[in-house]
Amino acid sequence: MPTLMITIRTILFACLTFTTAALASDENNGMREIGDGVYSFTIGEGNHSMFVVGEESVAVFETFHSGHAGKLLEAIGSVTDKPVKYAFISHNHWDHSSGGKVFSDAGAQTVMHQRAADWVMANPGRDTTMPDITWSGDRKDIAMGNFTVSMHYLGLNHGLGLTIFTIPERRAAYIADLVTPNRVMFAVVPDFNIGEWERSLGEILEMDFDIAVCSHNALSPQEAMNGCTRNHIEEERQYIRDLRNAILAEFQKGTGFMDIPNAVKLPEYAHWVGYNEWLEMNTLRLMTDLWMGPFPWVPNAN
Ligand SMILES: [Zn+2]
Repeated sequence: MPTLMITIRTILFACLTFTTAALASDENNGMREIGDGVYSFTIGEGNHSMFVVGEESVAVFETFHSGHAGKLLEAIGSVTDKPVKYAFISHNHWDHSSGGKVFSDAGAQTVMHQRAADWVMANPGRDTTMPDITWSGDRKDIAMGNFTVSMHYLGLNHGLGLTIFTIPERRAAYIADLVTPNRVMFAVVPDFNIGEWERSLGEILEMDFDIAVCSHNALSPQEAMNGCTRNHIEEERQYIRDLRNAILAEFQKGTGFMDIPNAVKLPEYAHWVGYNEWLEMNTLRLMTDLWMGPFPWVPNAN
C-alpha cells in the first residue's frame, strides 16, 4: 500500500507540475486567440477575461481585480498598439467589479449596468471603483469601428445588472457566472435565482455566436483557454434540470426533508469539479428554493 500511495502521489505531483508548466509555456503566457481578433486571458486563478482587437481600438471584458487587470493590459500591449477604449464589467460582485481603475488610468472607460453600479456605490470593495459609463434597460449596442459590443440584461438571474456581451461580427460572447464548464454549481449557489438562471441560459442559446469566454472555467487550464462552447451552456442547463428532477423525485417518494441532500446523487456528473464537496449544498439550496421560493422572486422579474 505505501508504495501505491507514493506512486499515486508522484503521478499527481507530475500532473500538477505538467499543468503549471504547460500553462506557463503557452505562447504569450495565459492568452490565446480563440476567434478573429478575439482573445481569452487568464493569470491562472480561474478567472478568464476576453478582449477583442478592432481596426481602431480594443474592448476588454471583465477586469476582476487590479493584479489581473494590470497583467491583462500588458498582454494586450503585446499583441496590438491600439488603445483600449472600453473595459466592460459584467455585474456587481466584488470578484468581478474590481480592478477597473487600472483601465480608467490607462485612458479607457469602464462600463457597467446601472443596477450593478448602484450596488457598487452603496457597497464599495477594497479594489472597486465607480464605472465611467453606466447603461440601463435590457439592450444596448456600442459601435467600435469594425465591430459592435451588444449588451444584454436578462433579468434577476445572478447578482445585479448581470450583462451578457456578444460581438456579432466576431461571432463571440462573454458570459459571467451563468456558465462554468465542468463544475457543479458553486457551493450554496450564492445570489442566484435558479429558475431565472435556467430561463436566461435558454435566451443565451438563442443569441448569435459560436465561441464564448466564461468568467470561470473548471476544465484543465489548457482547455479552459479555448473558451466555452454552446455545448457547455446546454450542459449547465441540463445540470439544473437533472438536479431539480432528482429533488422532485425525493419529494414524491416522501423522503424526510433534511434527508434529501444526502439522498440525491447524480453520478453522471461525478467527474465535475466540486461534485463531492458541493452536491449536497447545491441540493439543499435548490430544494429550499422549490419548497419556499427563491429570494428575490416576483412574477416577470426584470
Ligand atoms: Zn457573481
